[in-house]
Amino acid sequence: MRVAQTPLPLLYERLAVCRRVADVKPAGGRVADRSPLAGGRAGVAGNGAIHYINNMNYTIALTPGDGIGPEVTSKAVDILETIGDKFGHTFNFIELEAGGRAIDSTGEPLSAATLEIARQCDALLLGAVGGPKWENLPGNLRPERALLGLRAGLGVFANLRPATLLPQLKDACPLKDEVLTASNPEGKPNFDILIVRELTGGIYFGEHGRDGDGKNAASSAFDTERYTRAEIERVLHTAYNAASKRRGKLCLVDKANVLESSRFWREITTETAAEYKNIETTYMYVDNCAMQLIRAPGQFDVIVTSNIFGDILSDEASVLSGSIGMLASASIGAKSAGRKYPAGMYEPIHGSAPDIAGKDIANPLAAILSAAMMLRYSFSLEKEALAIENAVSKTLDSGLRTKDIASRTKGTTNEKIVGTNAIAAAVVKTLENE
Ligand code: NAD
Repeated sequence: MRVAQTPLPLLYERLAVCRRVADVKPAGGRVADRSPLAGGRAGVAGNGAIHYINNMNYTIALTPGDGIGPEVTSKAVDILETIGDKFGHTFNFIELEAGGRAIDSTGEPLSAATLEIARQCDALLLGAVGGPKWENLPGNLRPERALLGLRAGLGVFANLRPATLLPQLKDACPLKDEVLTASNPEGKPNFDILIVRELTGGIYFGEHGRDGDGKNAASSAFDTERYTRAEIERVLHTAYNAASKRRGKLCLVDKANVLESSRFWREITTETAAEYKNIETTYMYVDNCAMQLIRAPGQFDVIVTSNIFGDILSDEASVLSGSIGMLASASIGAKSAGRKYPAGMYEPIHGSAPDIAGKDIANPLAAILSAAMMLRYSFSLEKEALAIENAVSKTLDSGLRTKDIASRTKGTTNEKIVGTNAIAAAVVKTLENE
């Protein structure tokens, strides 16, 4: 039996935000309450410390977040539980508060204790944070600060965002068939891109501020794009390694015709390319890439780029995939001393979508596919990751769709529009029956 790392129960005990097994009603076998600590897999002793009842394989920090975050992450938890039952793994979840929820209960978007617990877990499953309720708070107190704090605190420097057009969702893609086929090497109407975005450097983390009173014509505001060689090298190695397991193509996207930091990226990429002779390396300006993604998406395999360019391009690519509700992401870091697995944070790329929260219409598939990425990238459970991806694919084959991925050509398909709960339950059922 694996024992929890010593400080974890102590920290956990101090955190009022965590739910405890004593608060939930255990049911036989799988549990009715999906509390992270439910399921007869972990318990809290009289002194408040966690003890694990069964074998504990993986401890996952879960921050459900705001808006649709809790609705979709709970479906990813269901899927992981199903994988656990099917493949004999045990996933223990430790629920933590981050973002708006955390502001409401503690006054800050991410407490030091929450970050410390997340660091001690094997991986983090995250629901998006933010919403109108917290919109007018000052920058350093906004829910989104929790994301930057978690990314930096966990040291997850590479964000992997697959953008794939599944054949079942072809009708939800705004591009015409002839546009898709023209750039596809096999002449098929689809694409399969992996965007590797640098995540903990660049302009989002650089020096920023204001000069002047804001009213005077000379008043100014600034943000700084700065990258070190080490930051660029490590994300390039991640991207090249990913390319070597895919179709062997890597494209650096930058703005080297204007920005010095981009020229630095190019220099280092050219050097690094020499270590990966079997990978074809190309370079593209970001404005051209924004156009090429729409004109000829099939030309891309792995795109590697800076934090801000990756942020924007991956949202663009998400539209081509049918819906932002389909796109998962993995943020990974190095395997540091004392950790069994490399740092990993997994989340759908969409936000908290306050406009559809609580209506049972959010697409949970991006969250479910993020769980698959966790199994693949953090725990090297490829078979299990594929099982989830196949279950999603088969569910779509059956015609079930959430509203966001409904066909654009109405009346021509056998689609049935269902809600968050129904489509997630169908994926679980398909997985159980596989
Ligand atoms: P958003 O991604 O939340 O929503 C954009 C549009 O996509 C909305 O119309 C929404 O209804 C739709 N959408 C998003 N996810 C969906 C899903 N799973 N199924 C169906 N439709 C979906 O982006 P936004 O509106 O710009 O931001 C809303 C809030 O989320 C803001 O507070 C923003 O700061 C925050 N945000 C958080 C993260 C994060 O935590 N990682 C990322 C992006 C935005």
